[in-house]
Amino acid sequence: MNYTEKVLKEAITKNPNEPEFHQALTEIIPTLAPFIAENPEYEKEKILERLVEPERQTIFRVPWISDDGEINVNRGYRVQFNSAIGPYKGGLRFHPSVNLSVIKFLGFEQIFKNSLTGLAIGGGKGGADFDPKGKSSREVMAFCQSFINELYRHIGQDQDIPAGDIGVGGREIGYMYGQYKRLTGQYEGAFTGKGLSYGGSLVRTEATGYGLVYMAENMLNAKKTDFSGKAVVISGSGNVAIYAAEKAIQYGAKVIAMSDSNGYISDLNGIEIETVKQIKEKNRGRIKDYLNFHKTAEYVENGLIWSVPCHVALPCATQNELDEDGAKYLVKNGCIVVAEGSNMSTTLEATHLLQENNICFAPGKAANAGGVAVSALEMAQNSTRLSWAFEKVDRKLKDIMHDIYISSYKAAERYGMKGNLVAGANIAGFKKVADAMLMQGNI
Ligand code: NDP
Repeated sequence: MNYTEKVLKEAITKNPNEPEFHQALTEIIPTLAPFIAENPEYEKEKILERLVEPERQTIFRVPWISDDGEINVNRGYRVQFNSAIGPYKGGLRFHPSVNLSVIKFLGFEQIFKNSLTGLAIGGGKGGADFDPKGKSSREVMAFCQSFINELYRHIGQDQDIPAGDIGVGGREIGYMYGQYKRLTGQYEGAFTGKGLSYGGSLVRTEATGYGLVYMAENMLNAKKTDFSGKAVVISGSGNVAIYAAEKAIQYGAKVIAMSDSNGYISDLNGIEIETVKQIKEKNRGRIKDYLNFHKTAEYVENGLIWSVPCHVALPCATQNELDEDGAKYLVKNGCIVVAEGSNMSTTLEATHLLQENNICFAPGKAANAGGVAVSALEMAQNSTRLSWAFEKVDRKLKDIMHDIYISSYKAAERYGMKGNLVAGANIAGFKKVADAMLMQGNI
């Protein structure tokens, strides 16, 4: 058994009942083998053994009172995975499916993603098994304040800077930042994704979705084509999905299907993104409400969105949402590019099927890194008390996504895996973190 196989086996044994974390380890560690074989000091210094173990993980009680006067108790998490290249940075997820395995998979991926951006940010992730759906704004605020009553002591602008993720948007960040400020007395950039009036950055709301499309445009360009005239299927209808759709449409594509956890809508004439924004961002409604505005659209309850034929597929909802069955449809229907907006959108089997069939595939840690990249730009603006123009941030985002594509492509090519952006992103992300760990001694 070689070094990477040994570390993978030991990490899985040592962390039982954590299937999502195992999946992330299995997706990343084997791809590092050729790079590590060429650089034996990583093995000698046990870099991988250290990397798979979070520096710190905090699990805490979050009690809060609902509108009917009942006490509710949720479980909160913050996993501070790696700070070799900068303070911990990564979102908070509020969803009933959140558990330690989910947060660890996200935190582990985040180390590589943050490194790929070229910015000085380490990896972390957190959240709670709280479901904001159907709750009043007062209930969401009560939960956020209680969550911060514990979390505030573990975070700070030079220590750990949370942001949004599933179930955590501008409203939740506002409530959490307000409570953080009240408890600490500090007006500092301890969160990103803040409102524009209190330290937020232009383009942060759009960043993950726009960045995803910039990545996919690079992939299409490599195939000597672009978004113009393409049919695009996007799962989800949250922050990432909405702004991916907006940018794809600006680039001349037709977004023909979008979804939420109940079903998908499709319209071959192209989905009107302003209507989706109205339904999701303002009304907090369901995607099927789209039919109330556009009669040409269809709604399929619990349907498989990947069965809708498209040139470009952008999964933007949650992990493992694109499995082998979905991938078979994409192959059969002639899809040419798949880029992950959500983290670990595809199962390992689906990823292999897409790659074997020459569909250009970009993993989330490369394709959705635009969000955290602009978060780091928000941190830079906060520390200088300046606000940059939309065009300036957007240009930087575009350049960062191009650089991530190039560094992932080149790393894969260099280690004999030309075109394999999964392996390339893993190696390119790993190198900077591993070298920083080597230089910082036995920490
Ligand atoms: P949102 O909460 O804004 O939206 C999530 C969307 O996905 C909703 O449409 C939701 O539908 C759907 N969804 C969530 N869970 C499930 C599920 N189990 N099954 C089916 N559909 C589901 O989240 P974001 O858009 O912020 O995040 C989406 C993905 O992108 C996540 O994987 C996240 O980690 C990743 N990401 C987000 C970044 C960001 O900046 N926000 C940055 C990088 C990655 P419903 O409303 O019915 O629950």
